[in-house]
Amino acid sequence: MKIICIGRNYAEHAKEMNAAVPTEPVFFLKPDTALIKDDHPFYYPDFSKEIHHEVELVLKISKAGKNIAPEFAHKYYDEIGVGIDFTARDIQVKCKEKGLPWEKAKAFDGSAPIGKFIHKNELQDMNNISFYLTVNGDIVQKGNTKDLLFSFDALVAYVSKFFTLKTGDLIYTGTPEGVGPVKIGDKLEAFIGERSLLAFEIK
Ligand code: MG
Repeated sequence: MKIICIGRNYAEHAKEMNAAVPTEPVFFLKPDTALIKDDHPFYYPDFSKEIHHEVELVLKISKAGKNIAPEFAHKYYDEIGVGIDFTARDIQVKCKEKGLPWEKAKAFDGSAPIGKFIHKNELQDMNNISFYLTVNGDIVQKGNTKDLLFSFDALVAYVSKFFTLKTGDLIYTGTPEGVGPVKIGDKLEAFIGERSLLAFEIK
C-alpha cells in the first residue's frame, strides 16, 4: 500500500508556512514503514531537533481506480480517519532552500501515526467535518473540511491521474493551521467531532 499526503490544502496553513496557496493539489508519498498503528508510541528520531505535528483527516481507499472522474470519486473511499503527518521541519527547511526532495523530512519511519477509522455514513456532511488535535490535553490544531482548498473528491480524482489507487491506500488530506513542535513525553490525541480516534505518546 502507499500513503499519499496532500500539502497546503488549508489556506491558513499555507499562510503560516509563508507558502503560496496552490492552484492545484500538492502531494508527496510516504512508505508503509511510516505508519504507526494501534496507538503505539512515536520515538523521537535523533536526526531532527524540530519534529512538528500536522493533524489531518485520512481517506482509506476502498477499491482500485485510475483516472477517476470527480463525480465518481466518492465511490472509492468508505472510511475516514485521523492521522499525524509528522514533519522534521528543520530538515524540510534545508531541503526547500536547496530545492531538494522532502522525503527525509516527511517520509521517515513513524512519520504517519494513524488512528481508528469511521464509516463515512456516520458523518452527516462531508463538507462540514470538524477535527482537532490536543497535546497534553490542550487543543493545538482545529480544522473543518469546509475550509479545504481541494475537496476529498477533487483529491481522489487528481491523485488518480498520476497513481493507480489501490484498496487500502491512504490519503492524508492536509493540515489546518497551528502546526508546532512536539517533545519527548508529550501525549497527543486526535478527534473527529468529539470522538477520540488516536492517542499516543512521544518517547
Ligand atoms: Mg501535512
